[in-house]
Formats: sequence, structure tokens, C-alpha cells
Amino acid sequence: MRPVDAPPTTDSQQTAPQGESTPPHKGEAGNLQQISRLLSELESAAVESGQATPAPIGPNDPGLRLAEARLGIAGALFTALRCKNAAAAAHSLRVAIGCSRWAVALNMPEKLRSQLEFVALLHDIGKIGVPDAVLVKPGRLTNEEIDVLESSRDLGRHILQTTGAPAPLVEAMVASAAHFDGGRQHVPLAGDQIPFVSRMLAIVDAYDSMTTDHVYRPARSRERALSELQQCAGSQFDPDLVNSFCDLFSRDQSELERDVARRWLSRLGDFEESFDWKPELVTARPGAAGGPSPFETKLIENMHDAVLFVDSQLVITRWNTGAERLTGVAASAAVGKKMLPSLLDMSDDTGKLIEDLRCPVLRSVKGGVQVIERISVMGRNGRSVAVDLHAMPVPDPKGDTLGASVLLHDASSVATLEERCQALHTEMTKDPMTQVANRAEFDRMLASFIDAHQETGLPCSLIMADIDRFKRINDTYGHQAGDAAIMTFAKLLKTSCRSGDLVARYGGEEFAVLCADCNNASAARRAEQMRKRLAETSHSELGGNPITASFGVTELQPGDTPESMLRRSDRGLLLAKDQGRNQVVQLGDGMGDAPKAKKSWWKFPVWGGAKLIETRLVTNVPIEIAVEKLRGFISDRDAKILHITENELRLQVTELIAVSGSTVRPQDFMIDMLLSQEHIERTNSSGLASGKYVQTNADVTIRPKRDRDRRQKDVSEQARRLLGSLKSYLMAKETSADPPKAEPAPSEPAQA
Ligand code: GH3
Ligand code: MG
Ligand code: MG
Repeated sequence: MRPVDAPPTTDSQQTAPQGESTPPHKGEAGNLQQISRLLSELESAAVESGQATPAPIGPNDPGLRLAEARLGIAGALFTALRCKNAAAAAHSLRVAIGCSRWAVALNMPEKLRSQLEFVALLHDIGKIGVPDAVLVKPGRLTNEEIDVLESSRDLGRHILQTTGAPAPLVEAMVASAAHFDGGRQHVPLAGDQIPFVSRMLAIVDAYDSMTTDHVYRPARSRERALSELQQCAGSQFDPDLVNSFCDLFSRDQSELERDVARRWLSRLGDFEESFDWKPELVTARPGAAGGPSPFETKLIENMHDAVLFVDSQLVITRWNTGAERLTGVAASAAVGKKMLPSLLDMSDDTGKLIEDLRCPVLRSVKGGVQVIERISVMGRNGRSVAVDLHAMPVPDPKGDTLGASVLLHDASSVATLEERCQALHTEMTKDPMTQVANRAEFDRMLASFIDAHQETGLPCSLIMADIDRFKRINDTYGHQAGDAAIMTFAKLLKTSCRSGDLVARYGGEEFAVLCADCNNASAARRAEQMRKRLAETSHSELGGNPITASFGVTELQPGDTPESMLRRSDRGLLLAKDQGRNQVVQLGDGMGDAPKAKKSWWKFPVWGGAKLIETRLVTNVPIEIAVEKLRGFISDRDAKILHITENELRLQVTELIAVSGSTVRPQDFMIDMLLSQEHIERTNSSGLASGKYVQTNADVTIRPKRDRDRRQKDVSEQARRLLGSLKSYLMAKETSADPPKAEPAPSEPAQA
């Protein structure tokens, strides 16, 4: 009897049955012998071929017969791999049979099992395109060689697509390279986003690699390989599936063997039909044969703009003359490549290189939405060119996305004009020496700041700061040193500010800081921090000596005008000077308590992890407009609407969190929102008109989809950024910035 703890299929010996305690059905013993004989023949062929040179393939080639018997036409692809590298083919076959055995143990549905076998048998088909110098290199691979090996997955995808393989199979093949925690670069999938069969294949693939001799490493023991799998459970592999795979070794294998042998030696003629294997699907890809008419072709070729088509996997299928002109990349070089930002050195409007995962074309294809964005690409002369990118998804009649058409319009002349306007604006609003806002800009901002805060009833404060005894500093160290000290102070004020605040040089060595959403107490606290930081800073230009400043603080009061508020904080500053300098004086009562967020009762069950954020956002518009603004947030973030009523909304948003370097992982968040509209009686900023002002309150809760994620610091930071984004879409202010209270996590959703 075969030992019960035998591994799945690591080598021919382990696969060979060593007798049966219960007699198999008629013919099964023969099948078992046949499959093990075929496998060992294949093994020895791989060894004899020295792995580098393909062994001659005759009509009786065992691997070929097994693959063809099982997969029909798909088997031809396996044959091609067999020609290229017998060892790679032998590995694929062992992995496929190993998967098959596991599938039997799991009682997997027939279709899924066939899919798994298929994907396993062809998961390395892209190795056909890897040079032997890399594929069978005995030593360590260089980074470039690793890249070549990595790119074989893309090549495999391309090969399968051109044979018309069904998309789910192709995707499952590609996804088998993903890591369960989403940590694998270029394969942006994690957890149950990775197809089930791909997660299984990843485990069997790794197990087989570890337990097989390679030119670069001898085989490891089964125990060592299983312990390695356990160590990577949760990061590289699905932990539940690793357990299931390890359990397999404690089962009686003979039943599984029989089923696998029966299956692999009986030709299943309906394999292709069951997978909808249709080579003609290839022609439906954008830009392929059967594509545009001669008129359309002429139009596309003669357009000045760059026009390109990509398929559902972002592979470029068309690249017009305009694209060649803009980028300097010839169509022959571009077609067949993946349209990733790195191909054209795409950067966003801040000049930052766009990560592959943030690719606007990817977003269009994956989300089935139009994407219009101003980006820069590497132009013909090696300089970056501003372009307006317009990606439009192309759906097939069933609504699946076939790919996208992408138009790149050279926007460099527009951009130059915009840049000049921007430069002019900067010149008019910034103080050239300190680069903070100038006095004119401060005067403008103070008026609109006061207006906005009076409309919403939210607090805001003004800090005036003046360097102490500055005349003496100039006299002692010189005017230039004085300038440097002013610049240092401006920098300190800027770094003490939050986004939404404004620092301005009010004149000479006097500065003003406008603090949004900030009452008297916290403005005074912040001024005190600034004072302390300055007093503790040593200035090299002043011989290492520190300087001090005095501060006047006030909060906006009902009926305030810019002048009245400014006068009050200036009085505070004068008092600080009078009382001996290097201190903070706060004057005025402020607005009193800001309205507290109302408690909301959710009428629908709470799913996901514990709350990271619970707050109220207030926007100064009617509820219909707030909903319109939310639409923008939903569409741009590609959020999934899980629940919606007249005033309640539950969204699922996937954010990408940087793990390390350029590696990111997706993180799902649940956002609950309860909207309510209110009319508030109040006087406007000038103090002249009073009346009812409408506002919409959004009670917002953000939680991670899975509770275990809540403890991660980067998850809470990302939740805050998400809230920030929501705030800017709604043009809202937050009214309760209380940290979320610890709350027991509700149970995980069965399926969100
Ligand atoms: P205090 O504010 O503590 O009452 O004393 P102070 O010496 O700072 O008094 P005052 O505000 O009257 O003097 C400000 C001095 O700052 C006068 C001016 O020569 C100098 N000053 C103004 N602008 C600049 C500038 O851009 N660079 C330099 N180096 N000095 C400036
Ligand atoms: Mg001064
Ligand atoms: Mg002064």
C-alpha cells in the first residue's frame, strides 16, 4: 500500500503506486501504472535533454500524449513548451496533476477543476520566450534577468490570448503570480480578489519547485517545503489553502490517485466547448483584424493627436503616426507592449511619476469609465510634454470591457500659458523673500475666511506675531542676518500650520496666521507652540543665538468684520509686547461651542471592522447639490455602492496603501453616510443681511472592511486621507474632530 503521508507529485517515484490494498475497478490499476510510467518517461526525457536542449518529440512522447489527451488543442501549447524546455514542461505537468489531486480531495466542481488543471498546465507557457541563458542559468540571476523571467507571465498572457483562450483562464494564469497580501509588484490583487484556482496553483507551484532538483538548487525535503509554505501563509499564500494543502498529506492517497489517473487518461472532448475556447474572439480585440475600415484607418493615421488602442490587458494593439510623432516611439516597438506609465515616463501634474497601479488607462479599462487627465509624457526629444489624456473604455455587446481607445493631445502650449498665469498669480500673492502670502493676499483671504466661517458657524482664529527687538538684531548682526532670521521665522510658522491655514507676511518682521476650524483655546495653544519653537531655535546667522516673538490671538466673534478681528488680535500683540514680550495674549470670546454632531441610528446592519473615523461634515449647500458632489467622489474613486436610500449611503472604496518603496497593497474601506439638511438663522459676514442659510450635514463613519486591518497605522492614516478627499468633494468642514472611541468590532460580513 502506498504510504498515507506521501506528497502529491514531486517526482516519478513518489507518484508510482506501490500496490493497492483494495482492488481498483477494472482497468484502473492499468491506468495508474500507465500514468506513472508516462510521468517517469517524461522525467527521464527532461534529465536526458540536459534541460537546455529540447528533447525530440515523437508521436509517443509521454508528456505530449498526456497533455493532448487531457486538453486537446490546448495541449498543443504544452507541446511548444515541451520543445523549448523539457524540465519546465515536466514541472508544469506535475503541478497540473498535483492540482488535480487536490481538487479531488476538495470535491471541487467539475468546471472549476478543469479550469485549475488547464491553468496549471500552461502557467509557465510564457517561458517559451525566455532565453535559455536565463532559463537554465546555473548561477544567481541578475536583476535584469529576473525582470526577463518576470515578463514571461505577460508573454504567457499574450500567447494564450492570441490562441483565443477564454479571458477568465488567462486572468487566472496571470493572477497565480499574485501574493495573498497584495505585496507582489505588477500583480495588484490581494486576498479573495485573486481567483480561487490561482491561489491553489500558487501553492502547488511553489511546493513542486521546492521539492525538485534545479540547476541552481537541490531539492528540499517535503517537510522543509511544507514548513516554508506555512511560513509564507498569509503573506504569499492563502493561509486557509496552505492548511488544506498540508492536510492533503495526511489523507489516504490511493482514492485520489485513482480518480486523477482515470481523469487524465480519458480524453475529454468537450474541454474547449466547456471553456468557450473561441479563436475568433481574438479578432474582436480593438485594432486587430476586422477592426476599423480603410476610412477609419485613414482618419486615425492622419490625426495630429496620438491615438492608441489597448486590449483588456492594456496590451497596445494600435499606435498611430501621431503617437509616433509625440513620443518618438515607433508603432513597431509599441504594439504588443503594455500601456503602462513607465512606458512613456508618465508623470502627474505635480511632476511625480505615475505608478503603474495609478495608470489612467488601467483605471479606464478596469473601471469601464472615461478618464480625462492632464499628465506629462516623455516626448520625442527626451523632454517631458504636457498632454491631455482621454481614455475611453470599449465594451463588447455583453458589457465586458474589450479594452480602451486612448487619445493624447499635446497640451504644451496651453500648459505654458497656464504656467505663465500661475507665475503671475504667485507674483501677485506671495512675498518674494519669505514665500508666504503677501499683505494684499492676506487682506483678500481674511475677508473670505470670515465670510465662510460665519456662514457655517464654525470657529476660526487669527494669530498676529511680531519678532521682538528686531531693530537691535539688525543693528547687531546686520540687515542680511536680519533677513535670514525673518525667513527662518516664516518657515517655522508655515511648518506649524495645518492644511487650510494661511501664513502671511503682514509687513517687516510681523506675520499673520489664519487658522481654519480653530477656536480661541487651540489657536492660543498653537501660538504658544510657535513661540516656544522659535525661542528654542538657534540661528547660525545670529551667532547661534535665539530670537523671540510676541503673539496676539483672537477667535472670530459673531458680527466681526475683517477690521474688527484684526484690531483685536493686534491689541493682543501689543499687550504681549507691553507685558514683557516673548509671550502669547489671547483676546475675545469667540463663537462659543460649535454645533455637536447628532447621534445617528443606522437602519442597516453594520459590517466591517471597528470605526476609524466618526464625524460630521457640514457643507454649505442644499442636500441635492451635496448628493451631486458625492457622485463625483464615487465615480472618481470607483467606489462600490453597497446600500442607498434617500439619505443613507454605504460605499466600499478600495485604496492603495504604500507598503514599501513602490509596492502598494489594496485596502477596502466601508464608508457610511447619513445626510440631513438644515436651515440656520444667522447674520452674514458684513453684519447687514440676516436670514436662513441652508446647510447639509453628513454624518460619516469610516471603517476598514476587515477588522484585523484597523490596528495598522497606515490604514488609519489612509482613512483620514479618505475623509479629507470626501471633505474636499463636498466642500465641507468637519464639526467634530473627536478621535473615534474604541468600539468592539462587529462580525465580518459574509459577503459585502
Ligand atoms: P518690538 O517689536 O519688540 O517692539 O521691537 P522692534 O525692534 O522689533 O520694533 P519695530 O517693529 O519698531 O522695528 C522693526 C524693525 O524691523 C524696523 C526695520 O528696520 C526692521 N525691518 C523691517 N523689515 C525688515 C526686513 O525685511 N529685513 C530686515 N533685516 N529688517 C527689517
Ligand atoms: Mg518687532
Ligand atoms: Mg514690528
